[in-house]
Amino acid sequence: MNIILMGCPGAGKGTQSAKLLKAFPLRHISTGDVLRAEMASGSQLGKQLGEIINQGNLVPDELMVEMLEKIVKATDKGIIFDGFPRTVTQAEALDAMMKRLQRAISHVIMIDLPAEEVVKRICSRKQCKKCGAILGVDLNNPPAVCPSCGGELYTRPDDTPERATHRLEVYRQSTLPVKNYYQNGGKYVEVNGNQKPEQVFEDIKKILEK
Ligand code: AMP
Repeated sequence: MNIILMGCPGAGKGTQSAKLLKAFPLRHISTGDVLRAEMASGSQLGKQLGEIINQGNLVPDELMVEMLEKIVKATDKGIIFDGFPRTVTQAEALDAMMKRLQRAISHVIMIDLPAEEVVKRICSRKQCKKCGAILGVDLNNPPAVCPSCGGELYTRPDDTPERATHRLEVYRQSTLPVKNYYQNGGKYVEVNGNQKPEQVFEDIKKILEK
């Protein structure tokens, strides 16, 4: 099973990936996490990436494809692709890469969320530094620490209203065409992302167990 988890920023790709990992023997590749790890390393490349990412823009395709191929080659488990492909060029490169590596995408799952929910959700989310949990919080009364593990909570620098709005626009322009790319290939399915995470997961599980 090699799954592409698609959806706009804030659709719940990270949350659903965490649930999938508990239920299936898969490797999760979040290109956003890979990029944030490079930024945290303090490398020159990380600094350049930080400027792009914190503005809510996309990292150039060639660099993304190169980074991704190294990780895909190093895993023989089924993969959840989270946040990749984000452009049609990346989708074409992924097809070519999978063919070269004699693997195939089995499911393309789009978590669908109405635009009006997106910015609201992004601006009220916090992530745990320790366990990585993504939480939707009441901003007037946010939890002091992660309810699951007690870890420190933080807000991503690209989760401000302005940057979230910009990321949504980038999504509309660059990533929505990826939906058309996959839509007629027989592997594309949509799930309603405007439900409780547990229900979204049930819907995804049904698709994978078919
Ligand atoms: P995410 O954690 O998936 O929301 O990604 C955070 C940011 O990382 C995005 O807003 C982009 O700046 C960058 N990014 C993540 N994945 C990609 C990708 N496949 N192509 C280009 N930029 C990406």
